[in-house]
Amino acid sequence: MEIKQIDPLSQVMITPSEVIEYLFCPRFTYFLNVLKIKQYEEKRYKVQKGRRVHEDRLRNNKQYLRKKIPMISKEQNVYLAVPELNVRGIVDEILWLKNGNLAPVDYKYSLYKKFAFVTHKIQLCLYGIMIEKTYGKKVERGYIAYIRDSSKTFEIELDASLKQKALLMVNNVLEIISKEKMPKKTSEKARCVDCTYKNMCV
Ligand code: SF4
Repeated sequence: MEIKQIDPLSQVMITPSEVIEYLFCPRFTYFLNVLKIKQYEEKRYKVQKGRRVHEDRLRNNKQYLRKKIPMISKEQNVYLAVPELNVRGIVDEILWLKNGNLAPVDYKYSLYKKFAFVTHKIQLCLYGIMIEKTYGKKVERGYIAYIRDSSKTFEIELDASLKQKALLMVNNVLEIISKEKMPKKTSEKARCVDCTYKNMCV
């Protein structure tokens, strides 16, 4: 009888948020995804608070983007999973645009600068890739809405180079998970100051 080898990584599904953690520090991925050590409560509280604001915003602003973007309809809180790319996650909104394309919207409970953060663009792009694979429609742009204090929405072009970069980041995360070896520290020492894992990261 032929015994089939199962690739352990074929069963791993990572989220765009976990890719953001990797971009913060590759070692973060090791603690979180390999050793399975959870982040502390304070961060979870901030995330939950952001989620509540986010839900209020969604309730109160159903027409929020509709006026600005030529769309036909939208879906909210859509679960997406693409096993062949080892990626899954819940996207805040999928817009059905008038030109037949789809576009993801990601709401962020954080302050923005004059631009959208690269990490947020990569996260958005992964949602875009999952939407393309799931719906079989083109995704050429997406939107990041920063909703803390005031509100600001950025339109982001999801071009081939950003998509390639986003998938490369997923591969990097998968590599750390498969090797189970502690990667190098981030070169940005300032990130260690508030890091959940600073006491165990030698
Ligand atoms: S303490 Fe610094 S090097 Fe260690 S996981 Fe945190 S950010 Fe990375």
